[in-house]
Amino acid sequence: MLIVMDQKATPEEIDVVLAVIEERGYTARPIPGGERVSIGILNNKGPVDASQFLGLPGVKDAIPVTRPYKLVSREFRLENTVIQVGDVSVGNDGLLIVAGPCAVESESQALTIAKHVRGAGAHLFRGGAYKPRTSPYSFQGLGKEGLEILARVRESTGMPVVTEVMDFETFDLVEEYADVIQIGTRNMQNFSLLRRAGQARKPILLKRGMAATIDEWLMAAEYILEGGNSNVILCERGVRTFVHHSRNTLDLSAVSVVLKESHLPIIVDPSHAAGRRDQVIPLSRAAVAVGAQGLMVEVHHAPEKALSDGAQSLYPHQFERLCRQVRTIFNNLKADETSS
Ligand code: PEP
Ligand code: MN
Repeated sequence: MLIVMDQKATPEEIDVVLAVIEERGYTARPIPGGERVSIGILNNKGPVDASQFLGLPGVKDAIPVTRPYKLVSREFRLENTVIQVGDVSVGNDGLLIVAGPCAVESESQALTIAKHVRGAGAHLFRGGAYKPRTSPYSFQGLGKEGLEILARVRESTGMPVVTEVMDFETFDLVEEYADVIQIGTRNMQNFSLLRRAGQARKPILLKRGMAATIDEWLMAAEYILEGGNSNVILCERGVRTFVHHSRNTLDLSAVSVVLKESHLPIIVDPSHAAGRRDQVIPLSRAAVAVGAQGLMVEVHHAPEKALSDGAQSLYPHQFERLCRQVRTIFNNLKADETSS
């Protein structure tokens, strides 16, 4: 249940509502809004009786929350969540572009790619220091050295960095270096990692599990919000299907569902969905057309030499074309929406 306070509700009236919620053995979670305060009721085992709250001074409404996820749902918060990463706003009315190599391989590799993608207009730089690889014999990432390289890339280009955390043990270290902490598809339901992410001081980029339903994905995000971190960016990256013409199947309909169901920003990773370079630009165009608030794209200046995911990495000139094309689509849609 969501208790919506009157715009003119006083702090004392809000305190009374909080006390009544706690007295009933529930947890109260105030959600400050632009115009009014709302208070979420958590940890109720069954339905909550709205009449307990409707008569209290300053209470405007008591809305039942019908979804299994609460804090992430639009029923709890109507306005989009906007997340600030340095100077970059995520989830506002701009289009976020995150780009970089799959893995940080060396300082010169990371810096070369970072300069290319920044020149094309990327806002955030991505690169894995800890890589979840299918084979234990594949390149596993540079670890701490990779994080230090990312810090130098941020310093010399001004771009905030996104990098993946793979386990609980390295969380503190990754949190120290990253501007946005990525939780990958394989860890989407690693609940102890999600709980740790809930305590993080940095935004979390939560990728959809490759076989996860939207409910499971939003429930995973719920763990992070419930733990106290409300800065979660969702990332659709394709799901496993029977097809062989792409590595995964990009579930574009998930974007429109998530936009409706949740106030959290939703972006799309066309690179891991496609698994091959020739599909990345078309999928990016489609993702923006369907309403994605951003893209995360793998780019490499020499993909044939890349230590991971070279086949799906764009050459810099292709990434420039992608940026031009998606901006055209995004701006046209925005112009149409503001004129109608
Ligand atoms: C990645 O972004 O580098 C990655 C490993 O992605 P995913 O978790 O979606 O496979
Ligand atoms: Mn990759």
